[in-house]
Amino acid sequence: MIETVEQPNKKTLAAKPVLPFPLQPLERLSWNYWWCWSMDGASCFRDIDPAVWEECEHNPRLLLARVSEYRLAEMATDPIYLERVHNLAGSFDRYLSERESLQKGWSTSSAVQAITPEKPVAYFCAEYGIHNSLPLYSGGLGVLAGDHLKSASDLGLPLVAVGLLYHYGYFRQRLNREGWQEEFYGETDPTQLPLHQVAETDGEPLLVEVLIRGRMVRAQVWRADIGRVALYLLDTNIAANEETDRWVTGHLYGGDRETRIVQEMLLGIGGVRLLRKLGITPCVYHLNEGHSAFLTLELTRELIQSQGLTFAEAAKQVKQSCVFTTHTPVAAGNDEFAIDLLTRSFGRSYEAELGLSHDEFIALGRTDPQNSQEPYGLTPLAIRMCRSTNGVSRKHGEVSRTLWQRLWPEETIERVPITHVTNGVHAPTWAAPLIQSLYEKYVGAAWQVQMRNRDLWQQGIERISDEELWAAHSLLKERLIAFIRQRSFLARANRGETSEYTEAAQNMFAPGVLTIGFARRVAGYKRWNLLLKDPARLLRIINDEDRPVQFVFAGKAHPQDQEAKLILQQVARWESSSGVGDRSVFLQNYDHEIARQLVQSVDVWLNVPRRPLEASGTSGEKVAINGGLNLSVLDGWWLEGYDGTNGFAIGNEIEATETADVDAGDAESLYRILEQEVVPLYYDQEKGLPRKWIAMMKRSMATLVPEFNSDRMVAEYARRIYS
Ligand SMILES: *Cc1c(COP(=O)(O)O)cnc(C)c1O
Repeated sequence: MIETVEQPNKKTLAAKPVLPFPLQPLERLSWNYWWCWSMDGASCFRDIDPAVWEECEHNPRLLLARVSEYRLAEMATDPIYLERVHNLAGSFDRYLSERESLQKGWSTSSAVQAITPEKPVAYFCAEYGIHNSLPLYSGGLGVLAGDHLKSASDLGLPLVAVGLLYHYGYFRQRLNREGWQEEFYGETDPTQLPLHQVAETDGEPLLVEVLIRGRMVRAQVWRADIGRVALYLLDTNIAANEETDRWVTGHLYGGDRETRIVQEMLLGIGGVRLLRKLGITPCVYHLNEGHSAFLTLELTRELIQSQGLTFAEAAKQVKQSCVFTTHTPVAAGNDEFAIDLLTRSFGRSYEAELGLSHDEFIALGRTDPQNSQEPYGLTPLAIRMCRSTNGVSRKHGEVSRTLWQRLWPEETIERVPITHVTNGVHAPTWAAPLIQSLYEKYVGAAWQVQMRNRDLWQQGIERISDEELWAAHSLLKERLIAFIRQRSFLARANRGETSEYTEAAQNMFAPGVLTIGFARRVAGYKRWNLLLKDPARLLRIINDEDRPVQFVFAGKAHPQDQEAKLILQQVARWESSSGVGDRSVFLQNYDHEIARQLVQSVDVWLNVPRRPLEASGTSGEKVAINGGLNLSVLDGWWLEGYDGTNGFAIGNEIEATETADVDAGDAESLYRILEQEVVPLYYDQEKGLPRKWIAMMKRSMATLVPEFNSDRMVAEYARRIYS
């Protein structure tokens, strides 16, 4: 099942020395992911020993265990460093103690106030992207979930989250010398991470049990602290399980359909049982994507068993406490299972406990209950069992109403009860500390709060001096270039390129050159090949003598998608082709860390999805927070964000029917905007300052940040969806 497993250099944490007493607050800080979005958090750990920090993939617990005794002693006797640790620990303690006042700050509604630590929101998702040291995510969905938890914590919204602990996570990517993608897995050892194993009151490990495929599957539970939010992770990798069942939480999206349904039973059914064992009674269950939809069945089963209700009566009650967010704009993107797989996985006892016949049980997952040909879909199940369904942008709400209108055959599309909450990103996670310090200076120390007040925010941004903004951005770009050189050097050395070519990585890219980033999954609708439609024209843009352009690419292809891998190979080979020189790079293994490097530093973020298939997209929002400009097709969030002055729009909003025509039109529009708008505006500089460009950066920050951040998103969920 696993191809290669790279074992991290194992050194057990059990032998960990006690930290010198002035550094002891770091131990406490290392156990809560709050550090990863506090301004000096990462740097406080990094500065102990930057080389070990890299080696540990930015995992503070490992760092503290591995760093030399002498280094710790040195830091423990450095008064300037100790002051930083003291301040960081002080902020952390204040953060943890101020929940109540926070919630009152953004909502006075009694419905929101009714969400309490005793009756919190229960948030369910199959993946979480909190930080790159906790690799339990594959991409956008997980990173969004991570940002949701961080904002819930910042806003003081009581919320507990449930997910799975994947022992091997999602695949990691490297390219061989032919530019072909190879996959391998890293191992996630919970004992090396800031994860507390959850115990029963007698001290024994807490176990959750679910009958799956006729066997009792047991899961132990880990808790990660995300500021004030607890994230519980189910893990079946224990000796009490049969070998096959230990693999249930082996890989994220790595297995076949069977692994998927089994994981989803564990998440949904096991997740509810876990909350019961913890004594948590949520006021609302949020199904973030359909993966956790079985939780609605478990809630119904509980009511039937405890109160003797019929299925219909119980389901009606359950519906009042469940809300669903759909993330896919295409029918094929939704999770579906063959009926015999469903039957084998559940067995027959579960439907009996629900008081349903086999046909009735299956009908819950069909858009047309009468259609015996239809597979079992988790989206129809979730929509049916939840009181609210929403898409993740205005456009996606519309698309979802059309897609699922079948579930309300008597309603017109406009009247289908599916709404939208547009995705946002967590500002302190994604804004570079250097940009955050500008926000502090010009908007105010409480800039994250001011962000909610559009006028105050806008006035603050207008006050930022052009020189300072450009200097900060330029420094970040230099950091990106150094990062690109370092990563490329290592990648070339690792795949055995000639020493000359490997060395050349030290000189690639130049700081003054307009830099465009393009990083996303290599999937058909993301249209990686659009940019390469006319290679000669693109080369002219890149190699213009006075006004050159450089491109950074990153992204993973699905391991079974040969076509995607070919496109990737084409982009990767480009890097070494003579025509491009050193103005294009492909960064391997797109993850949270690479995303952070890119979004904080590029001048322009390119996105060319085929309309209307980008449900929302969030990477462009991360770029906007850092002052980068979006150059994107009007789809997903950008359709709401673009106002004609705060970035660039490719193509138009008209939905053409012939894919080839649309692609040709959008490619032409992309080249034309690059040649006639983006490049001239960037290079219109006066004493090294592109005044008009900087004005657009400010427009972008002023108009986009108040809207497309996850504090706004979570507050909107709390007001409109949860209460
Ligand atoms: C933000 C993010 C995404 C989502 O980006 P899109 O805009 O949906 O392409 C995916 N992967 C990582 C690592 C991210 O940080």
